[in-house]
Amino acid sequence: MSVTALRGAAITFRDDPFQASPGDCLVHEPDALILIEDGRITAFGPYADLRESLPEGTLVTEYKDAIISAGFVDTHVHYPQLPMIGAYGEQLLEWLEKYVFPVEAKFADPEHAAQVAAVFLRELLRAGTTTAAVYCTVHPQSVEAFFTESARFDTRMVAGKVLMDRHAPEVLRDTAQQGYDESAALIARWHGRGRQHYCVTPRFAPTSTEAQLEAAGALLKTAHNLFMQTHIAENRAECAWVEALFPERSNYLDVYAHAGLIGHRSVLGHGIHLAEQDFCTCHATGAALAHCPTSNLFLGSGLFRLFDAMDPRRPVRVGLGTDVGAGTSLSQLASLNEAYKVAQLTGRRLSALQSFWLATLGGARALYLDDRIGRIAPDYEADLCVLDLKATPLMRFRMPFCESLEDQLFVLMTLGDDRVVRATYAAGHKVYDRDQGCFIYAGRHDPC
Ligand SMILES: [Zn+2]
Repeated sequence: MSVTALRGAAITFRDDPFQASPGDCLVHEPDALILIEDGRITAFGPYADLRESLPEGTLVTEYKDAIISAGFVDTHVHYPQLPMIGAYGEQLLEWLEKYVFPVEAKFADPEHAAQVAAVFLRELLRAGTTTAAVYCTVHPQSVEAFFTESARFDTRMVAGKVLMDRHAPEVLRDTAQQGYDESAALIARWHGRGRQHYCVTPRFAPTSTEAQLEAAGALLKTAHNLFMQTHIAENRAECAWVEALFPERSNYLDVYAHAGLIGHRSVLGHGIHLAEQDFCTCHATGAALAHCPTSNLFLGSGLFRLFDAMDPRRPVRVGLGTDVGAGTSLSQLASLNEAYKVAQLTGRRLSALQSFWLATLGGARALYLDDRIGRIAPDYEADLCVLDLKATPLMRFRMPFCESLEDQLFVLMTLGDDRVVRATYAAGHKVYDRDQGCFIYAGRHDPC
């Protein structure tokens, strides 16, 4: 078995800096060696200590002026919406009608789905993201296209077919039974195959009847460790609509809980307009929230109360999401830039260490995958990104004025985006190389 060896500065986390002292949570090796065998990290520590253990003849790839991190985790994103990212002028409900539904309808064509999936997956890798929770469309072929692309790069992905049986154009509607059957077939085909995970995906309460939500709850019982993703309390008009549609439920979260959709591996997008009682329910059930700052600002949805959600008395699992196409970038560095500002507007300060934890191990925890991804540590899967401290002329100028690692990380997240990512590794293989200008899979080099 061949050994891959990477050398450079590296950061990772052993614990949650929202709950414990950030200094105790961070692992920082200014000159690290990372050894990888068979897709997994076998050793991580100071180069000076580990170089003796290098098998003879091992080629060491050294990254200078860079920081090696665990690959980023995006806990909420819609791949079919990539063709309408940056669409002007609407808030959530009108934006769905005007922009989202027309682009999603095109995924009836498997060729179109394959083309968009290929671009999307590569753009994730270019942004340093190695795992994402991904909404496909109502069409099973959209899921097929996405998992096929993910399997090609051997990335660990969570995805599923959108369930929608009302309040959507006819061409985008399934029925409770059809949605169940199509999801069940996709679960049989993809869930647990290589690094792919299936996610039961009702879009949100307004577009599913009670019967469909119940069918989704039943689906979750059909296989081990299935995921569930949906949206919640993103926009005030949406919240009022849900209240009108489900008068017998005590609140929005209860609509999902009643259908058996809330628990471990449930990921709820947004949660801007949730109450204290909802945070308590998320904590008690282990359901996670996906904080999507670029999207929330773009659609004018509101300000997520991250520090209330993370209250150490009853912390909720929170990951970071780009929510493209309402989000304006697939880069989690860009998400962190906006997450910092959203926190500022709620009177809180999001530190660089808390930020990088959210984008890596925090996201992995939100997805219950923190036993295998999100960290640089022995036995963890070797999903990594290499961040260039001198990626742009302004960063090259700015970095020497940094006085600490925290300063450098903060500049990375305020000035950085996909241009910062020099290389991305999935399961130990380099899948993206900025300076060679290519994506790499199965021995092929595709120019980018
Ligand atoms: Zn979304």
